[in-house]
Amino acid sequence: MIPETLPAESECVLHGIGVSPGVAIGPAFPLSYRDDSAPERSLTDDEIPLEIARFESALIETRRQLVDIHRGVLQSVGPRSAGILEVHMMVLDDSAFVEEVIRRIHRSKINCEPVIRQVSTQYAEALLKVGDAYLRERTADVQDVTRRILRNLCGQAAGDLRDLMEAQVIVADDLAPSDTALFRKDRVIGFATDQGSSTSHTAIMARSLSIPAVVALGGLCRQMIRGETILVDGTRGRVILRPSASTLAEYGRRVKSLREWQEELTHLKDLPAVTGDGHRIPLRSNIELPDEVDEVLRHGAEGVGLFRSEYLMTSRNSVPDEQEQADAYNQIATRLAPYPVTFRTFDLGGDKFTDATQASAEKNPFLGFRAIRYCLAHPDFFKTQLRAILRASSNHNVRIMYPMVSSLAEVQQSNDLLRAAKAELRAESCPFDENIPVGIMIEIPSAALTASTLAGAVDFFSIGTNDLVQYTLAVDRGNERVATLYEPTHPAVLSLMAMTIRAAHEHKISVEVCGEMGGSAVLAPLLVGMGVDELSMVPSAVPIVKSVIRRITLDRARDLAQKALHLESGGEVLTLCRSLIGEVAPETLELVTRM
Ligand code: PEP
Ligand code: MG
Repeated sequence: MIPETLPAESECVLHGIGVSPGVAIGPAFPLSYRDDSAPERSLTDDEIPLEIARFESALIETRRQLVDIHRGVLQSVGPRSAGILEVHMMVLDDSAFVEEVIRRIHRSKINCEPVIRQVSTQYAEALLKVGDAYLRERTADVQDVTRRILRNLCGQAAGDLRDLMEAQVIVADDLAPSDTALFRKDRVIGFATDQGSSTSHTAIMARSLSIPAVVALGGLCRQMIRGETILVDGTRGRVILRPSASTLAEYGRRVKSLREWQEELTHLKDLPAVTGDGHRIPLRSNIELPDEVDEVLRHGAEGVGLFRSEYLMTSRNSVPDEQEQADAYNQIATRLAPYPVTFRTFDLGGDKFTDATQASAEKNPFLGFRAIRYCLAHPDFFKTQLRAILRASSNHNVRIMYPMVSSLAEVQQSNDLLRAAKAELRAESCPFDENIPVGIMIEIPSAALTASTLAGAVDFFSIGTNDLVQYTLAVDRGNERVATLYEPTHPAVLSLMAMTIRAAHEHKISVEVCGEMGGSAVLAPLLVGMGVDELSMVPSAVPIVKSVIRRITLDRARDLAQKALHLESGGEVLTLCRSLIGEVAPETLELVTRM
């Protein structure tokens, strides 16, 4: 727990969850803002014009920032990403929004922050109700713009990513995808957030960018001063504010040895992930955008085991048509050939890009109208994606994977649509792989429990541990208040995984792990020993997982798994796995987060 107010002068150590390993030391760049930071305040009649002027100058400042960012993104990233900012400017210029805020300030005689929040919520709700999909998708933009206006109104020391001129550590309440889209890797050296968990998408982003990160710090960001030195220890889940000379000296030594170990790992790039007794485990990568293919190749992964296709939408905030999708899929598959690429069909909803699925309006989005459920309810939308993936499969090693499957019926209906898509392409003489492998993610306990039934309908399983853990243990994967209960090594999770692996092998289909657990160097021997055939992970985790696999034997891994499956708690399993790593690859413990 962190103190209410941080001591002003001396070093201060805060504990959170380390979600991306490594150490970053540099000046803090607070991007802090909480929606509740400006409480409601009554105004006298005289104060009303001043309040409106305050609102209007925040609008002007917001527009100025958006124009600047738009220019920068256009130059550095390109027109697609810049498109989001154009939509943000349109929201800002919408007279219905601006006039309604002014009218309500007059009528209710309260300060503008709560009024803006109310109007923005109603505006977003109204958009969600309209039939037009494009307008519905604008709700996230309204929320993003609102956040920016409110940030400008509070005039706090909160910075903006466009002000980032040198290597700094980002400190934030939480990071929105539009924030991380603006990250420049050379200028963001680490981040520390008040919210988040190890499988939140902010954490996954940190790992894929190899930026040390600690989340779930509680009230840190409100109290940070821009430019103060901050040390982020992503390995141990610690943030040290104003580190003392002795702390800096100690960390200086650690950073040096970390660099040396990382350098050693780069030599493994072209070597296979094979155990000492010759058992090969292909290591693939999880990516979200076509640009990340470079990282996959740079880290020596053998293709992509999970392409989170829904990010094709979040990165531009609209639905790409069949041709655009086919181009993106084709580009990825071509660059990775001859390695395979597994395209997961749109996993919308839950914690990702919720506007198209309207999941934000649901009480329980993680249990709601999402992923395969949404796709099956919108067969044309789903079939468009299946056609695009099929088209990319004509000359490439491409696989299709359905997310969030909970029953056989969902797989059968999806396969029916796939058959229809194939028939259409055949009729159009459009080439594709007739035998394209089809798999499902096992991320819901019902899927694991019925794995032997599901195995008959597909060519492979991929265990999505991020969701499997949350649904098995009833622990929200993104809620820092229950983060200690989120245990991938919990005996219940391991039992469901063992059941899935057994069913896959009985049906002679392969079983992979693509959740974050699959990228844990500490848990790799356990997964190999349990019989997992392939692992898929953020590209930056590939070298370290490979180094561990090369230092164990299959016998040793099986022995570990046997013991682990008889333990009574997740903590004991983790201790057992860490002790094996301590024996065979002790330096690894410095390069991984403490799970
Ligand atoms: C998972 O649930 O483990 C998974 C890989 O999917 P995502 O993290 O995208 O939900
Ligand atoms: Mg999932």
